[in-house]
Amino acid sequence: MSKTSPVIIVIEDDPPIRRFLRTGLSTQGFTVFESETGKQGIIEVEIRKPDLLILDLGLPDMDGVDVIKSVRTWSAIPIIILSARSSEQHKIDALDAGADDYLTKPFGFGELLARIRVALRHAIQPQEHIQAGVFITANLKVDLHKRVVSLDEQEIHLTPIQYRLLAVLVQHAGRVLTHQQILKEVWGPSYSENAHYLRIYMSQLRQKLEADPTQPKFLLTESGVGYRLKI
Ligand code: CA
Repeated sequence: MSKTSPVIIVIEDDPPIRRFLRTGLSTQGFTVFESETGKQGIIEVEIRKPDLLILDLGLPDMDGVDVIKSVRTWSAIPIIILSARSSEQHKIDALDAGADDYLTKPFGFGELLARIRVALRHAIQPQEHIQAGVFITANLKVDLHKRVVSLDEQEIHLTPIQYRLLAVLVQHAGRVLTHQQILKEVWGPSYSENAHYLRIYMSQLRQKLEADPTQPKFLLTESGVGYRLKI
């Protein structure tokens, strides 16, 4: 994080939640600007060039997903969704539109802060969890140059597709990827509807990498939405 205080714009029409966010984030050293509507929020993002955007989906003048689409035409800033909409399809729509993360209300402030820190780190250095081509978390190590995966220093043999799936998750470690995003990256755009491929290969990866594949520690399921590699 830079020495100057990072700027966050909050687009949210619910005053108590805005107040809660402003107070909480200010005490954590962030500079916070607020907007109650989507249109005003988009202008604020253009003018203030914030480091991060926190966005509600149910706004009085437009849908938050359209705010994401609009901002994404000219900006790559991290966008965290804070929404009462808990359905899987809403999360998928927001993530596919270009949101970086999604929290459902009611949310824990600690959890929000953790997601903000991850998103800001990614924005500054998208692959900071990969050092010299090597990703390490707990006892799992993935060497992207040598294409070698090891667990407790023991090499694990993966098939080419299993490896590609893991490599995509490693490149986006810590972030939730939708089924469609993963399918496109691993198999190509024409396979984006073949979610069953993904289930099969994810299950194979877990068999090889997780001590208990039914209680994964690395390859986490975001129920109905996608997967996240824990960092
Ligand atoms: Ca709302």
